[in-house]
Amino acid sequence: MVKPINSTLTNTLTNIVTKNLANTLSKTFISLALIASFAANSQEQIALTGEIKQGGLLVGKTLAQNTVTLNGKAITVSKAGDYTFGFSRDDKKSYQLVITSVNGDRVEKTLTPEKRSYNIQRIEGIKKSIMQPNPKSVARAKQDSKQVKTARKVASSLNYFAQGFIPPIEGIITGVYGSQRVYNGVPKNPHFGLDYAGKTGDPVKAPASGTVLLWVPDMFYSGGTMIIDHGHGVSSTFLHLSNSYVKQGDTVEQGQVVAAVGKSGRATGPHLDWRINWFNVKIDPALVLKVKPLH
Ligand SMILES: [Zn+2]
Repeated sequence: MVKPINSTLTNTLTNIVTKNLANTLSKTFISLALIASFAANSQEQIALTGEIKQGGLLVGKTLAQNTVTLNGKAITVSKAGDYTFGFSRDDKKSYQLVITSVNGDRVEKTLTPEKRSYNIQRIEGIKKSIMQPNPKSVARAKQDSKQVKTARKVASSLNYFAQGFIPPIEGIITGVYGSQRVYNGVPKNPHFGLDYAGKTGDPVKAPASGTVLLWVPDMFYSGGTMIIDHGHGVSSTFLHLSNSYVKQGDTVEQGQVVAAVGKSGRATGPHLDWRINWFNVKIDPALVLKVKPLH
């Protein structure tokens, strides 16, 4: 004989069903949370700072034992897990950043540097001596350029690039990265520095800590020229300096006065031209100032 289901039993059954449902739901929630936290960890492995733009420098942080590649090329990871790479002025490529853990887990990110437009200036009636320097000057300029290129090839294990950068002087910006002048109809190399107005003798600070790779007081075009290595191919170059307070091989701290503003070489007046490189890739110093340390 079937007893009629009383309301208490119905309530109990409802409670059981609800409880089970709640259990199931909470289990589902936990697994969703786990997936989410795994995803969050994966995101953390591709944590990047800097601007994904032409001329941008990217700084990443991952586990020191992980492998990082950019379009299949290995990127050095520091003992603290820092790595860096950058995009050139006219970079039109897309990049696949892949991080592989020791147990083979991979995380990937596609990076397409944002296109920028640069200021083009046309200047007519330039003197012939500036257009065509004499053979002796050409030879000197070639030698200078070779020295600069060699310095910028240095791939040290320093990781000061990951600490962020400060402006080397507090002057007004008078020239920007990427701008190009066309003299008498002939396009010149684009300007790759950030120019600051200044007076001869004004102190120039190291934008980040590093090692002095080069100091030449009298290069043909750039006059007093200093290169500081910040690690992993990232270097600062200062042009037209009037003096240096450090020498090649010296270790410098971020903010340390290393040189003095000048107008040496082919400069129209005293100013500081600050450049940033990632090896031979010319980076925009203005974008580098936006790189914040990752923890
Ligand atoms: Zn300049």
